[in-house]
Amino acid sequence: MALLSTREQLQILSRNLWWSWHPEALSLFKRLNRDAFKASGNNPLVALNLAKYDVLNDSQVQAEVDAVYRQFTEYMEAPGGQEAAPKTAYFCMEYGLHESLPLYSGGLGILAGDHTKAASDVGLPLTAVGLFLRDGYFRQYFDDEGVQHDDYPAIDSTQHPVELATDANGNQIDVVVHVGHREVHLRAWKLCVGKTNLYLLDTDFSANPFDLRFLTRRLYQGDRSTRIQQEIILGIGGIRLLRALGETFDVYHMNEGHCAFITLEMMREHMASGQSKENAEQEVRIKCVFTTHTPVIAGHDRFEAGLFSYSMQQIRESLGFSEYDMLSYGRVNPHDAQEEFTMTVLGLKLSRKANGVSKLHGVVARHQWNHLYPECAPEDVPITHITNGVHLPTWASPASRSFLDVNLGSWERDREKQVTWDRLDQVSDKAIWEYRIRLRAGLISFVNDHIRTQTMSQTANLDREALTIGFARRFATYKRAPLLFSDLDRITELFKNTDRPIQVIYAGKAHPQDDGGKEFIQQIFELSHRPEFNGRLIFLENYNMEIGRKLISGCDVWLNNPRRPMEASGTSGQKVAIHGGLNLSIPDGWWPEGYDGTNGWSIGDNASHEYEDPSVQDPRDALLLYEMLENQVVPLFYKRNGSNRPDEWIQMVRSAMKGLTYSFSAHRMIKDYIKQIYTV
Ligand SMILES: *Cc1c(COP(=O)(O)O)cnc(C)c1O
Repeated sequence: MALLSTREQLQILSRNLWWSWHPEALSLFKRLNRDAFKASGNNPLVALNLAKYDVLNDSQVQAEVDAVYRQFTEYMEAPGGQEAAPKTAYFCMEYGLHESLPLYSGGLGILAGDHTKAASDVGLPLTAVGLFLRDGYFRQYFDDEGVQHDDYPAIDSTQHPVELATDANGNQIDVVVHVGHREVHLRAWKLCVGKTNLYLLDTDFSANPFDLRFLTRRLYQGDRSTRIQQEIILGIGGIRLLRALGETFDVYHMNEGHCAFITLEMMREHMASGQSKENAEQEVRIKCVFTTHTPVIAGHDRFEAGLFSYSMQQIRESLGFSEYDMLSYGRVNPHDAQEEFTMTVLGLKLSRKANGVSKLHGVVARHQWNHLYPECAPEDVPITHITNGVHLPTWASPASRSFLDVNLGSWERDREKQVTWDRLDQVSDKAIWEYRIRLRAGLISFVNDHIRTQTMSQTANLDREALTIGFARRFATYKRAPLLFSDLDRITELFKNTDRPIQVIYAGKAHPQDDGGKEFIQQIFELSHRPEFNGRLIFLENYNMEIGRKLISGCDVWLNNPRRPMEASGTSGQKVAIHGGLNLSIPDGWWPEGYDGTNGWSIGDNASHEYEDPSVQDPRDALLLYEMLENQVVPLFYKRNGSNRPDEWIQMVRSAMKGLTYSFSAHRMIKDYIKQIYTV
């Protein structure tokens, strides 16, 4: 093999998102041109294209590139252990892989990104399909009143590691789907995520008239008609793309309802080869599995019958079905002409397995869909659960990796063994506390830098020693971001206590059409400027994966106060465990499984926590939250021994790191999917 130059090695490395979970690779790219890297939103390819000559020729850098390149080729060649698992096609509307590729809006996308990476790590033969959302999700900025504005810098395909997908003969893919009787041409971009390929469908090219070219531009925006067209592209187009690539699979995984039209396209394939409707349904069901993420009935994606029938007429004709037949797949009661077509119903009817994303969400989903299985008792509704997990190599900060390297040996290789994590019992309180101090200090200097780059001014007065609480997620109203401020006098007291100071950092985007969420942002923004909060209440602009990584590593406490049971899982709290952050959370989503009385706090207990009426539930939860903070969280953090260390707090940190890290990781999750969902 001819020896590759440093630039050639970097070129190969830059074209695989493997770098997104290998900080040693990222830091090399960053060194090539720090300004370009930062200005491009941490984009390795841009840094490489603008690499400084003297850095590329530095023999130290060259040696490091050699080492990282070797690590990459070893990763790509080494088996992960799950190569014999069912060959899986995975469909999702959004993917959160790295902050430089804004193809995600929140937890669903992050989960899909983590799933794709974990599949690569364990060697699961998985191919992922999504949309090339060129404008992505928006970039957020505030005006002086704290009003959220949105901005859509387009993704330039030449500046990202994507290439146009080709078929076996090397011809560019050009797949056609129909919306009504209009043809829509699709091409696809291929993105390598370790050993996994992600294909992103795109209408923005010359084969399409102007109006259709905008279809794949933005995530979750536009009217219902745009949405159904996007879903036709993702579902029907997704299957046609895989066929154009010459690929068939053992399992087709629909991650949330947006992609559920894959089932109707696969029905069409079977019927075109001469099978009856019943046989075709059977065949599709054998191969398809469905994951639901939506605990609220109204939150499920649905289309009014007229729009559905109009948009899907071409595929209906090729199936030879009546409008009634087609609508039946998405209706709980096919005879109800008023019922809309619900994508989740389609996914449930034409799959062999279905799951929610936490144990509690499994229970909620079984009750929620009981009317679709009237013969079943709620506990027998065929929806199981696989609890979400996070991809540790993506979320573990460089500081946490070195801490674990020093203290836990080969933790990455032996992550599945509890003995690995039990070694934390041998790590001294001093070492754990210094680790926490280092991570908090890193966050504070990041925040100080970040607010200087924000559009609106903000003065931070953060204290490196103070109890630091974080809250960052989508500003969907059920997550109740401003709950902490429901009693202003009471929370102000906590901020004003100079002996036991607290500080709180927020970040998050509200959907541009969600006025309630935008109002929440404005409220917190306005409060953050009040003198009584003394620069210790911060709202960071433009929440993304980078801000997420910093916050989950540096905060002492991660606050999560959704209106139970509306959080299907939530994953941000899982990211804090490896960093020794502690969850302070409503017992919703994953937390009832994670919380064991020693590793964080539950705001109220499981039983007492659901009310029909939010105007009863919200003040009750706020009260419990204040009591937890005042009586437990703050005193424990400031209960110091002679060496100024909080012994009991450190014990909780140890317990969280030991018990939550692997259980709520994407590696555990992907193995559960293989065993319980993918394998027949
Ligand atoms: C982890 C993560 C989420 C998910 O947050 P939850 O509210 O815990 O579900 C959303 N957005 C980003 C950027 C994340 O990193």
